Amino acid sequence: MGARRRIVLKMSGEALASSASDETIDAAVVERIAGEIAAARAKLDLELAVMVGGGNIWRGTTGAGAGMDRATSDFMGMLGTVINALALQDALEHQGQPTRVLSAVHMAEVAEPYIRRRAIRHLEKSRVVVFAAGMGNPYFTTDTSAALRAAEIEAGLLCKGTHGGVDGVYTADPRLDPTASRFDEVSFREVIARDLRVMDLTAITFCQDNGLPIRVFDLMGEGNIGRALSGEAIGTLVR
Ligand code: UDP
Repeated sequence: MGARRRIVLKMSGEALASSASDETIDAAVVERIAGEIAAARAKLDLELAVMVGGGNIWRGTTGAGAGMDRATSDFMGMLGTVINALALQDALEHQGQPTRVLSAVHMAEVAEPYIRRRAIRHLEKSRVVVFAAGMGNPYFTTDTSAALRAAEIEAGLLCKGTHGGVDGVYTADPRLDPTASRFDEVSFREVIARDLRVMDLTAITFCQDNGLPIRVFDLMGEGNIGRALSGEAIGTLVR
């Protein structure tokens, strides 16, 4: 396929929850996010894959901290991402955007298995691909999984949407340090050397090694998904 840009959008599971809802997934939030994704995909004519996390449901470290077997706890986290992926698929299809969930943990009744060539084929057919179950291995995060999948499908950009109110990469945590300032652009080397919070270190070094730029932006700001996907200079570009 030709010149269409291919992007992986990473969103945390917590982005799908909200204080306005007691549920682990707030349908209104999912609808807004899906609406923005569908509009951007159609308008910008991009090939878009989404990696969704599971932190609104379960994190491996939560169970491990309470004495659970780490791998078991991580598999619980991966299953949480499948729940989120299905919610996102449903909302995207309500918007008229054909969507396929590709799961790294096989569950044939629920989602297609992740097969690299199949993912690319879906993208070429203008379907949104939602990656579920991270990369299928315990001890990893969906941030690292997003980076891995982006490299595998030869995406040109990884967009990391934040949800905690921090709209990019700062010199320090802006919630704790009022003098912190935001980078428009920052190198992988500086992110690592200064231990700046972008994604986990495994994901960062993977992107650095593979020359995969990351746009960090506030997923919750209205219209921001379209801005980030269109290549607008919002948030911070890490490269
Ligand atoms: N996870 C894993 N391997 C993967 C992806 C995810 O073990 O390849 C587990 C891990 O326990 C993690 C949980 O799934 O805590 C949920 O993913 P993550 O914490 O990345 O979600 P987010 O913080 O983005 O919502």
